[in-house]
Amino acid sequence: MFSDQKSFQETFKKRLEQSYSISFDDSTRAQQFVTLSQMVREHISSEWIETNERQRQEKKQTYYLSIEFLLGRLLGQNLINLGLYETIQSWLDDIDIPLEELEDIEPDAGLGNGGLGRLAACFLDSLASMGLPGHGCGIRYKHGLFEQKMVNGFQMELPENWLRYGYVWEVRKSDLTVEVPFWGSVDVVEREDGVKFRHVDAEYVKAVPYDMPVVGYGGKTVNTLRLWSAETSSFSLNQDVLKYKKDTEAISEFLYPDDSNDEGKILRLKQQYFLVSASIRSIIQRHLSNGGELRSLHERIAIHINDTHPVLAIPELMRVLMDDYQLSWDDAWHVTENTFAYTNHTTLSEALERWPIRIFRPLLPRIYMIIQEINERFCKSLWDQYPGDWDRIERMAIIAKDEVRMAHLAIAGSHSVNGVARLHTEILKNREMNEFYQFQPAKFNNKTNGITHRRWLLKANPELTSLLSETIGEGFKTDATELSKLALYVEDPAFLEKLSRVKRKRKDILTKLIYERNGIKVDPTSIFDVQVKRLHAYKRQLLNVLHILALYNKVKHEPSFHMPPRTFIFGAKASPGYFYAKRIIKLIDSVAELVNNDPETKGLITVVFMENYRVSLAEYIIPAADISEQISTASKEASGTGNMKFMMNGAVTVGTLDGANVEILEQTGPDNIFIFGLKAEEVMAFDRDGGYRSMDYYHHDPLIRRTLDQLVDGTLDDKGLFGVIYESLLSENDQYFVLKDFEAYRSAQEAAGRIYEKNPQQWRKMMVKNISGSGIFSSDRTIKEYASEIWKI
Ligand SMILES: *Cc1c(COP(=O)(O)O)cnc(C)c1O
Repeated sequence: MFSDQKSFQETFKKRLEQSYSISFDDSTRAQQFVTLSQMVREHISSEWIETNERQRQEKKQTYYLSIEFLLGRLLGQNLINLGLYETIQSWLDDIDIPLEELEDIEPDAGLGNGGLGRLAACFLDSLASMGLPGHGCGIRYKHGLFEQKMVNGFQMELPENWLRYGYVWEVRKSDLTVEVPFWGSVDVVEREDGVKFRHVDAEYVKAVPYDMPVVGYGGKTVNTLRLWSAETSSFSLNQDVLKYKKDTEAISEFLYPDDSNDEGKILRLKQQYFLVSASIRSIIQRHLSNGGELRSLHERIAIHINDTHPVLAIPELMRVLMDDYQLSWDDAWHVTENTFAYTNHTTLSEALERWPIRIFRPLLPRIYMIIQEINERFCKSLWDQYPGDWDRIERMAIIAKDEVRMAHLAIAGSHSVNGVARLHTEILKNREMNEFYQFQPAKFNNKTNGITHRRWLLKANPELTSLLSETIGEGFKTDATELSKLALYVEDPAFLEKLSRVKRKRKDILTKLIYERNGIKVDPTSIFDVQVKRLHAYKRQLLNVLHILALYNKVKHEPSFHMPPRTFIFGAKASPGYFYAKRIIKLIDSVAELVNNDPETKGLITVVFMENYRVSLAEYIIPAADISEQISTASKEASGTGNMKFMMNGAVTVGTLDGANVEILEQTGPDNIFIFGLKAEEVMAFDRDGGYRSMDYYHHDPLIRRTLDQLVDGTLDDKGLFGVIYESLLSENDQYFVLKDFEAYRSAQEAAGRIYEKNPQQWRKMMVKNISGSGIFSSDRTIKEYASEIWKI
């Protein structure tokens, strides 16, 4: 099919005509996209089968359980990983089909909110690309993360519909369906050989797997991402059939748009148990069919839980081993503890999952019993270590104060607990999870996040990829640490010239896209200053937008003030129920209106808010960035991965010493990054002592005062929309230290602008230092560490 141009073109045309009963000349790009993608999927299938067969002999496999997988588009990435991209591009070109146009038809598989889901997707790519036996397990939400529509500068949410035209990459495996029980009660049967438990009168939900191929680079390994879809079961005899159908299908209807939202608790809990129950059973079935023993499951299988959402996998495995396969508690616990490993993604306490018992127990009666038993034994072991220390035991208990604490269950039931950047892991060990660390220090370890350079460099930035290949050879494609070879060219004027031309090319592409989408003409020679990520108070988009407003004021009121032209580019979705975040989006829009249309700042300051930020949009924006905004309040961002994508594409970071920025600084050296603001220690000290006096900054800094006043004096709107923001900064004492860090931020930005304008050669060298130091942030490095230190695969 892909062996030569002629047979490819013939097959392609014939299949188009047969599938759609139209002539090739009349076919649409959408039809061409589907046909090509189907051909690619079929092409993959033999390697997929072979990988499966080969892995039956593997000593050990990993399953990565995650409530989110933010995959983005797959056609282009699959072609690249198969080594077919350029070939197919030229063969299609020959029949007047631009491959990029077909790629743009593909809907993003947006089954995630942001960093956590994208990390899972990057990990799958690295596992397959390094030939490791590692598979994903998730939920096939009918609607992924909402589509963001901007209406008068306000975010509106539309249901996303990635399955609208069918999804070419998935294969439904009805024969591997499993039944997941909810509600009902637990039957206790006393028998001669002990007490047995049975979950009775349950309402069953059918979990149907849809498998997606995960093609590794080089095409030799094709792993599986198994996504579960909820359907009605014939096992359930139900009074109210319609209600049952609705409740069942709701389980895989929507991705939760927020990781810290309180609504629909039962449904959310159902989703979590649905994912883990189906996954655990399918993992065990496969293990048994490979001739595996349950008592040694942990020697053949590692299961990773991505944050606490899949943590019920721990009691679920206990349940299956004991109730279905008659293992004793001690044997089952030994297997379970050695099978699971857990990653913590946040220290924000509002994001730590806790379930009220009144919700939990009726929905999952047998699982609740098992958690009670785990809790009792765990507390007993705490008692042995800290006899009499009731307070500590209560703080560390898995069940307490009428709640199930998911993070505590995760720690108790896993042999490994990791943070996602060095600073974050230190904060976990020394603060948030300090008592657990004291109790079992050996469990705790760090695995700094990474990104797959196959998507964020090879796929997103083919121009830079070619330049790198001709400069340092192709080795970096499989071994990203080879990017360090680029450091040799930091003084090479010819290379620097080429690099700046690549950046300009990517800025031209984005300039065109901004014009198409926003109708704004931006200057591609201006500094592209970019902040794209979920909207959250701790990520401080507010600091950025207030700084823009302050620059506007300086231009208008300080005759001697000079700045190089800048284009500020934003992309961010706010959680639908997160009022404050949505108001900041509106503020960005209002500031854009003001500065883009004022003759005194027109062309000098341009603000662009790009609608519906997602993976495919990120692939356009990130390669075009000059400045990467990573300005979270220190200690609040666990790692960040956006920061790594920008660095790898030659953007220079303006950032706080937070998350992985700390490690980025180590790679670039202090001269190639603009670090500013409070340190994590300082923020945590303020947090402990009740904050700082933000009002002083208002009174003592005229620029801050003038800028803040504009939030409420009618400059931006006359309806008082931004009073809440004004209040959060002043009367509510600025919880995220926006004003405290303001001057340091302004000054870092000024320094960056000065170098960009006055010393472009130095800027280019900074770009080189960023790219050459970015190899360590390939998720290949991260996965190697997980594989050897945690999973032992
Ligand atoms: C990488 C990525 C993120 C995470 O960005 P952070 O800056 O680390 O928060 C979020 N959304 C998308 C679409 C991404 O690609």
